[in-house]
Amino acid sequence: MKKGAQLYEGKAKKVFLTDDPEVLMVDYKDDATAFNGEKKGTIAEKGIINNRLTNHFMKMLEENGIPTHYIEEISDRETLVKKVSIIPLEVIVRNIAAGSFSKRYGVEEGKSLLSPTLEFSYKNDDLGDPLINEYHIIALGLATREELDIVSEYTFKINDILKNYLIKFGIELVDFKIEFGKTSDGTIVLADEISPDTCRFWDSKTHEKLDKDRFRRDMGGVEDAYWEIMKRILGESK
Ligand code: UDP
Repeated sequence: MKKGAQLYEGKAKKVFLTDDPEVLMVDYKDDATAFNGEKKGTIAEKGIINNRLTNHFMKMLEENGIPTHYIEEISDRETLVKKVSIIPLEVIVRNIAAGSFSKRYGVEEGKSLLSPTLEFSYKNDDLGDPLINEYHIIALGLATREELDIVSEYTFKINDILKNYLIKFGIELVDFKIEFGKTSDGTIVLADEISPDTCRFWDSKTHEKLDKDRFRRDMGGVEDAYWEIMKRILGESK
């Protein structure tokens, strides 16, 4: 499969055309942003870690019955994926209070939630990705009721699968953000990435943060945290 023209450059990835119109190639960068692009930096080799981990999780989820956009890993940073139109929603699941949830509701970070929660943000950088409810989503035509039901069902399943998988490596899945897309025949599939950029991963014993919060909050040890996740899950060290 030949890498063609660049279609799009996002904050963490570039997307290229290929010689198959139904297939795109993603190329993961080391660029890191936070707070809607206000904070910028690089995390050395993040692109490699996020590409490899995302593909590992996508394969594992496929084996567990979740359709994804994943096709094939081409190199450390490049992956072939199905071309989809992204549903412009950030789908967020929380098992433990943290981040914007803790702030909004005045709940201490680290408090276990009685049941996993699901929330949506409207993917729109100009508006700062505002929280949006299901009525708003349907009224604005961002997704239909039927599509939202599929998205929600997949999302809770993904949470169960990932949470149970990660705990074996001593990793607590605090919360995460995923995105879904529609293939040309209308099938809804999991798209984008699942990585320390998009999930909160805490060490299950010490509750040490092993994710992008170390970058967001200037905690130091960012690269080491990403490599720690890579080592525990894929058995690979720097
Ligand atoms: N998240 C993300 N992209 C975003 C916003 C959030 O990947 O643009 C992830 C984030 O890493 C965390 C979860 O979604 O795992 C919940 O984030 P939260 O709403 O607490 O926002 P934050 O505190 O990161 O601003």
